Amino acid sequence: MTEVIHRTADEQREGVSRINHWIGGRLVPGQSGRTGPVYNPATGQQTGEVDLATVEEVDAAVAAAKEAYESWRKVSLAKRAELMFNIRELVHERREEAARILTSEHGKVLSDALGEATRGLEVIEFACGIPTLLKGDFSEQASTGIDVYSIRQPLGVVAGITPFNFPVMVPMWMWAPAIACGNTFVLKPSEKDPSASLWTAELLKEAGLPDGVFNVVHGDKVAVDALLEHPGVAAISFVGSTPIARYIYETGTKHGKRVQALGGAKNHMIVLPDADIDMAADAAVSAGYGSAGERCMAVSVLVAVGDAADPLVEAIKARLPKVKVGDGMQPDSEMGPLVTREHRDKVASYIASGSEQGATVVADGRESTPDGDGFFLGVSLLDNVTTEMDAYRDEIFGPVLSVVRAASYDEAIGLVNDNPYGNGVALFTRDGGVARQFQFDVSAGMVGINVPIPVPVAYYSFGGWKASLFGDSHAYGPESIHFYTRGKVVTSRWPDPATSKVDLGFPQTR
Ligand code: NAD
Repeated sequence: MTEVIHRTADEQREGVSRINHWIGGRLVPGQSGRTGPVYNPATGQQTGEVDLATVEEVDAAVAAAKEAYESWRKVSLAKRAELMFNIRELVHERREEAARILTSEHGKVLSDALGEATRGLEVIEFACGIPTLLKGDFSEQASTGIDVYSIRQPLGVVAGITPFNFPVMVPMWMWAPAIACGNTFVLKPSEKDPSASLWTAELLKEAGLPDGVFNVVHGDKVAVDALLEHPGVAAISFVGSTPIARYIYETGTKHGKRVQALGGAKNHMIVLPDADIDMAADAAVSAGYGSAGERCMAVSVLVAVGDAADPLVEAIKARLPKVKVGDGMQPDSEMGPLVTREHRDKVASYIASGSEQGATVVADGRESTPDGDGFFLGVSLLDNVTTEMDAYRDEIFGPVLSVVRAASYDEAIGLVNDNPYGNGVALFTRDGGVARQFQFDVSAGMVGINVPIPVPVAYYSFGGWKASLFGDSHAYGPESIHFYTRGKVVTSRWPDPATSKVDLGFPQTR
């Protein structure tokens, strides 16, 4: 849980910026006297202190969103679309600014941070089509003189609670469709890298979004619980780890809210003996160590089938010394540090436990970690991992790739289907028939065929199965339009005195 520092609203440490809430279109300094530290993971230095909200501050944000909702829901679709286009233009122009903020608090390398902002931009582009996305159905003459049509209306104030690993993109998955649908929004971003949310708030204001439509409350469990229990919040979108996702779903639904809660992952990449081994090795290194493994779609387990195993492990091993680990601000860095010192140490503990539990440590990231106080850990490869080992069972969320050797395709897909998570999965093969059968049989929400990180494009929806998703609605794409609106069906008849009579029977259509 967050380390808490006690400080008054105007107290500030030199060289450490104070990160405030954003309520009703302006910065609001926190009054709780509780703050959390924010670090530059590449140097290990504390650079910020984020306000942690009280229940009253959450109330104030919900009240601002509620007030704004009354006029925002009346804004025409044409104007909302125009505004989304303005936002799209500004994000596109200023995405490098976002990338620098991401790198300085999350640690991911600049090119990856830019990639995050660009994938988020796709969701905003999708939301620009809101007039088409909200089109209803119309049935003329459903019964004599009676027409029936459906409309979708916004929910009201909706909240988003987001993880540290995509501080710009994951909030975009939520606020872009939510706002386009006519809702107002309260974001509770990760307290580990909160500055990107204020960058977003200022950009939305500059684009012309009315005050109160988008608000940010920073905080920990106090703020999250206040949102979950708040009678003025109609829906909660959550992305984060599985235990918290489960808690959010159970608590939010108990309080009568619509909830979508995306959880953690343990993504497997199966490599069949007929696969192109070099291509599979490139993909495994990219998907296993990109963003230091801190992606919910990172490949964590490589399932090498039959004869694929030895050459695959050799090909990956040969690539590892070339992965340049360093400060994400340096253009030649390919992998940055982990988000906090505690997380780095926890990730490193899986190399030790893997070795103790019988895995072969092919590459030990602890031995290739750059010097300095940054939260770095080099790349690690564990071979001969089995399903009882901690490295297999837990979501490590770091640059540790585990190889499990399987005798057959059936054994490999059995591993995936028996795993409690079901976010992403990939199959590497040249056999189209096997690939098609795999897509039919596998228990996961996002499937890659020779694609290691199958994050759907913005006009499809994103979400896993099993313990990777609580609730039945995936993020962004068509499912988000459904999630952020509710349906209404209108049955209408225009006065025709000639057909009017008293009839106590149940209405018939024929
Ligand atoms: P996390 O679950 O620790 O935190 C997510 C959010 O929940 C944060 O805003 C945090 O403040 C809040 N939170 C944390 N503990 C809480 C508690 N006890 N009560 C109430 N709220 C609490 O996740 P994280 O470490 O920030 O992010 C990494 C996790 O997110 C990984 O498990 C990763 O797989 C997952 N993730 C999933 C997806 C997906 O689409 N499925 C995408 C990105 C990240």
